[in-house]
Amino acid sequence: MRKLQAPRGTLDVLPPDARRRLRLVEIAGDVLGRAGYEPMETPVFEDTELFARGVGESTDIVQKEMFTFEDKAGRSLTLRPEGTAGIARAYIEHGMHKLPQPVKVWYAGPFFRHEAPQAGRFRQFTQIGAEALGSDDPTLDAELILLLAEIYERAGTGPSRLRLSSLGTPATRADYVDELRGYLRAREGELSEEVRERLEQNPLRAFDADHAGTRAVMTDAPRLIDRLSPEDADHFAEVRALLDAAGLLYELDPTLVRGLDYYTRTVFEFESERLGAQAALGGGGRYDGLVEELGGPPTPGVGWAAGMERMLLAAGEGTAARSPTVFISYAAPDTARTGFLLARQLREAGFRVESEQAGRSLKGQLKQADRVGAFATVILGDTIEVKEMQTGDQREAESWDQVLALVREVTQP
Ligand code: AMP
Repeated sequence: MRKLQAPRGTLDVLPPDARRRLRLVEIAGDVLGRAGYEPMETPVFEDTELFARGVGESTDIVQKEMFTFEDKAGRSLTLRPEGTAGIARAYIEHGMHKLPQPVKVWYAGPFFRHEAPQAGRFRQFTQIGAEALGSDDPTLDAELILLLAEIYERAGTGPSRLRLSSLGTPATRADYVDELRGYLRAREGELSEEVRERLEQNPLRAFDADHAGTRAVMTDAPRLIDRLSPEDADHFAEVRALLDAAGLLYELDPTLVRGLDYYTRTVFEFESERLGAQAALGGGGRYDGLVEELGGPPTPGVGWAAGMERMLLAAGEGTAARSPTVFISYAAPDTARTGFLLARQLREAGFRVESEQAGRSLKGQLKQADRVGAFATVILGDTIEVKEMQTGDQREAESWDQVLALVREVTQP
């Protein structure tokens, strides 16, 4: 029989790692919650058209990476490759523009891209994301960047590089794209085939190319950041001033092009020095045209997404702390029911309680107590004893109340 395995590019999260992931979501919820961001959930699959319109027809994501399927009624559905389009769709669908603006939300969950799997790159991965819709205030851009930096700090992901740029508004960008296309056409012979094929649709992607000839051409290419309208330049200057005032270091990178079409004005990306080829820890930007593009009222927005697996890779090993544990062991036959009920009572009192459930010898049970990190072990035999694991001291309890009192004494000496 064929050996069954998890599908290519997916991963099983085993208990110690799963605990670290939950902890990360808690950290994000805490940091974002204190800035007024509320949790929100959208479906894991959406109409394919949402991503085609929202993420952009010419992007790698839409052209190559979507898990698309037909449902039984012949509708084309797609497993979500990113989170912003779904949030924007829900914002429109639920009339959230009528709420006090900005609407600030965050999410965590699975995303799907059909990419070639490698270290730090999966076909199903997990993102934590945050979005603020309904205001173009530059404090939102700066706030979101600072909140993401704070999450990295608390998660222990280590040093990272923040690249920052501004893409301007669609009108500026359209003029600039024409200018760039003209420049690239004039040197078409030096470009890679892939860039030449995309020249009409998306010449900006030439900045992403690894091809040596293309890279040489790009060093002299006109830069969007030098073509910003006065309003966009002011907006960007304010975002930078706020980050400067907060003491967050960044590098201006006019070649920063993110792989999604909907960005306007601010774009940014954090990269970790601790990761290999897939160094992007998270990134995002402003998407002032997205909601309108999807059929809603003109609504500015800004947000980011961070990859959970990469954050944990960068943070390295280490386990999130468990709450103090009491272990219940058996030194005489027929004590299992007593232990079973005692465990419930100690749990009600707030302790994490494990008990012997695999028929070990008493010696084996005490070893198990150490393995689960117990600070105290209750030994049920002819008497009831409470053993303090660190010192080995053992005291007899006359009643369950006394067991509880002794356990409390050990945990709070
Ligand atoms: P993006 O929406 O492409 O900007 O992705 C945001 C973040 O999600 C990236 O910075 C990565 O940390 C993470 N990410 C994106 N794609 C993948 C993937 N295929 N596997 C693991 N993490 C990913």
